[in-house]
Amino acid sequence: MKLFVNGHFWQNGGFDDTVFGVLTKDGKISEILRSESATGADIHRVDLAGAYVFPGFIDTHTHSFEGGLYSLMIDLSEAKNLDDVFGMISEGSKTKGKLVFAWNFDETRIAEKRFPTRAELDKVVPNQNLVLRRIDGHSCIVNTFACDSILGANKKIHCEDDILKGFENDKAVHWFHNNLDNEMVLKAYHAASAIALKGGFTTIHTMVGDANMSVGHYAMLKDQLSSFPLDFVLYPQSFNIEAALELGAKRIGGCILADGSIGSFTAALYEPYAGKPIRGNLYQTDSFWHDFISKAHSHDLQVAVHCIGDRAISQINNVYHDLNNKDPKDLRHQLIHCEITDDLLLQQIQESKAVPVMQPMFDHLWGGPNRLYAKLLGTERAGIMNRLRSMTDMGIRITGSSDWYITELDIRKSLSAAMSHHIPAERLNLAQAVGIYTSNAAWLSHDENIRGSIAPGLDADFCALNYIPQAAMPQPGDKITKVVKRAEIVYEDISH
Ligand SMILES: [Zn+2]
Ligand SMILES: [Zn+2]
Repeated sequence: MKLFVNGHFWQNGGFDDTVFGVLTKDGKISEILRSESATGADIHRVDLAGAYVFPGFIDTHTHSFEGGLYSLMIDLSEAKNLDDVFGMISEGSKTKGKLVFAWNFDETRIAEKRFPTRAELDKVVPNQNLVLRRIDGHSCIVNTFACDSILGANKKIHCEDDILKGFENDKAVHWFHNNLDNEMVLKAYHAASAIALKGGFTTIHTMVGDANMSVGHYAMLKDQLSSFPLDFVLYPQSFNIEAALELGAKRIGGCILADGSIGSFTAALYEPYAGKPIRGNLYQTDSFWHDFISKAHSHDLQVAVHCIGDRAISQINNVYHDLNNKDPKDLRHQLIHCEITDDLLLQQIQESKAVPVMQPMFDHLWGGPNRLYAKLLGTERAGIMNRLRSMTDMGIRITGSSDWYITELDIRKSLSAAMSHHIPAERLNLAQAVGIYTSNAAWLSHDENIRGSIAPGLDADFCALNYIPQAAMPQPGDKITKVVKRAEIVYEDISH
């Protein structure tokens, strides 16, 4: 037995300082103590040093394989111009063998405001496979060497266009992933797990598979789950319902795409992009989604689909709505991202009982006057995006996530972002922000009886902070001091 003491424990949406300590047994919370009553020789005390102690945080949507893998690859987020990009790639490629992957490229943040050309990349990396991926993951460039390799693997790919989007982008990236061996795949997940713990998370949902017909390394990872110090909630990210059922999965999907992204002008909108006569793309027909989602639903699979633009969100939500009328089941189908929603669409989501899986960091990165959303969508539409508070106030249960590797896997920043939406009416308060990463998040995977709050019978998962999260982004001294998984300390900040 362990007794966690000397903390301000989070109970039902606030800190309860009448709690003396939390007693645990076999990894579970056995009792919330109000006074120093139960003390026996066999009780090991863990001093939380006056920390603010939350339930272990849960991120409900990550691409942990890519995130872990990319943490071992070339990160271009600090590049200020193309020379920086070439320098980083040249340096990084020296240690990367035949597969060189550079990511977090954002042409809007570098001086030249453009992608490098393939010819430029060929000069920097002539004899290794290079994939350079945009920050949103929805476009990339490959060098000529990689293009030849992909063609040699009998993948039809149109590399003559410098910037690959849509299916061409997917093919290039999946080719890269498929050429990694199991050892590298596990190394990537262990890197992900370490980053998640450091970021305050004890459980993360993760997408496994190529967003087409493959479930990738799902079976291999499923067998290894007990080797990780946190819980992964796995999604076969695939359209292959038979494969998901065979694997014993309870859910299917993830970033299987109803549309693309705003930055790539591929998110599907009702009205055109600002100053451009295009409305983005629906990647599949209505009948395709009807058939896929209905079939999954009939097999009791929870479905998750990536939908960003209002036209794509409607397309998916209409199917959920229909099923909720005809064959209601408590499956908690997901609308991943669910970014552009007017009031009518929110009402339809409320009726369908779908769960928007939201990314508060998106608004922090791209919301506000003269920023990406306003530039590409116009001010009016940028004002009905990532509507955390409106959804919450309507009783729509939403969950929080990073979409890591797209944004950082750090609960401190995620909570601040949820409390500092650029539109004041869309800001969550602390209790709501914590809720979307704890109780709501546990509920999403039907695990509300296992985790998500500090209560008897649940797993003893805690995240201890040395400060109370605020709307303002964390300062250097604002730390995650300890992370506890099933009563074991799995991360500790040892800096002073
Ligand atoms: Zn995603
Ligand atoms: Zn997505």
